Order: sequence, then structure tokens, then C-alpha cells
Amino acid sequence: MRKYALVTGGSRGIGRAVCIKLARMGYDILINYVSNAAEAQKTLELVRQAGQDGEILMFDVSKREQVRKAIELWENDHPEEYIEVLVNNAGIRRDNVLVFMPEEDWHRVLGITLDGFYNVTQAVLQPMLVHKQGRIINVTSVSGLKGQSGQANYSAAKGGLIAATKALALEVARKRVTVNAVAPGFIETDMTEGLDTAALKNTIPALRFGTPEEVAELVGFLASPQAAYITGEVISINGGLYT
Ligand code: NAP
Repeated sequence: MRKYALVTGGSRGIGRAVCIKLARMGYDILINYVSNAAEAQKTLELVRQAGQDGEILMFDVSKREQVRKAIELWENDHPEEYIEVLVNNAGIRRDNVLVFMPEEDWHRVLGITLDGFYNVTQAVLQPMLVHKQGRIINVTSVSGLKGQSGQANYSAAKGGLIAATKALALEVARKRVTVNAVAPGFIETDMTEGLDTAALKNTIPALRFGTPEEVAELVGFLASPQAAYITGEVISINGGLYT
């Protein structure tokens, strides 16, 4: 029986590195994206180079009906199989001080992170419980642990995701489904492009940004059988930025 992992926002950055890592671990990968078909296709090629197969699933994680339809279609095509690993990675930031933050930017960031968690996790959870085997890994952020000026929306979303991780972990532990979060600091991706890298590096004890591959190694460990007794945890990966 083939094993499947779904990575939301798998077209770029951390999500792409996670797709490749999980492929190397023997999973076929469902690569989700929302707008960047060419990059999703590139991730699929990299998954194939890693020796596994994959499929591209286009949906906006914040849109419940789109998520439900995409997962239902996949399940209809794979009646004997289920998604064993879910990585809730899709995310955006729309930074602004709260006093000037447009309502749309508040709702969009919370919608993708929190509604996205709810929509995608609920769509794939039942089969994990039935098979008594599953891994859910949520990509949160240092901003959700400590709060970040200019990121009230992003900090609220990532902090909420941490709380949801802990709550769901308690609900499903007896079914051998683990739920954990990883909390990266500054990682070199499109999301951090345009930031004042030189100045920011000096605020990081390790004096550098992390790489998507480093985050993917951590996600891979949490997905592995060796991590079966870790649940409800938030693991920082930030070069000492916040301890
Ligand atoms: P990125 O390079 O900007 O990639 C974002 C990914 O999310 C893309 O694959 C994008 O798809 C997808 N996405 C965005 N909105 C979506 C939606 N509504 N539905 C489905 N997919 C959507 O970002 P990244 O740096 O890899 O970040 C990945 C995760 O790590 C995010 O949750 C982010 O908050 C978190 N994080 C990042 C850092 C960092 O320093 N980079 C630090 C802490 C936490 P398209 O390609 O189709 O646009």
C-alpha cells in the first residue's frame, strides 16, 4: 500500500523542501498550491527526482468548499488509501501596525492560517483515526510565540495555530495520531525577500537565516515513526532568536 502526505503551500519555499524530504522518506506527495501552477509543477518534478510520485491539488485552504471538493475527488480516485501525513504549511503575511491595518489584511491572514487549518485538517482527519496512524504538523512561527510588532494579524494567526495544535493533540492521541507544530524564525524564502537581511542577521544568535531544508528535516522527523511519542509540542527552529 502506498503512503501519502499532503503539504499545503507545497509549491514554494518551506513547503517545497518538505515535499522533497517526505518523498525521500517514501511518501507520495499531494502538492497543494493556490496560484503558482508552474512552481507546483517544479515541486512535482523534484518529488519524482527523489524517487516518489506526486499529484498537484489546487485549492485555497481558506475556502472550505474548494478544500472539501479536492479531497473528496482524491479519495474517490484512491478508495483503498488515505493521507497519513498532513503538513499545514500554507501561509502569508500582510504586515502593518494595527492602527493602519486594513480589515481585509486582518481577515486574509487569519483565514489562511486558522480557517485553513480547520478546513484541511477536518477533511483528512477521519481516515487517520480509522487507521489509527497519522501525523499532523502545523507550520507556525516565532511570531506566534513571542508576538511581533507590525504583525498583530500574523502573530494572532500563528498563536492560534499553536493553541489549536495542543487542543487537537489531546483529542486524537489515543488513535495514534500526533499533532505538533514547528515554529521557524527567519528562513530564506520568498516570504522574507525584501527584508533588511544584513540588519536582521545581527539580531539572530546564529548570525544567519535558516534554510527551508533545515525546517524540512524537523518536519520529517516529526512525521517519522521515531517521533510517535511526541505530541502537542511546538518546536522552535530559529538559530537562537527566541528561547
Ligand atoms: P512562501 O515561500 O511565500 O510560500 C507560501 C506558500 O503558501 C506557497 O506555496 C503558496 O502557494 C502557498 N499559499 C499561500 N496562500 C495559500 C492559500 N490560500 N491556499 C493554499 N496555498 C497557499 O512562504 P514560506 O516562507 O515557505 O512559508 C511557509 C510557511 O512557513 C508559512 O506558513 C509561513 O507563515 C511559515 N513561516 C515562514 C517563515 C520564513 O521566514 N519564511 C518563518 C516562520 C514561519 P502559491 O505558490 O500558489 O502562491
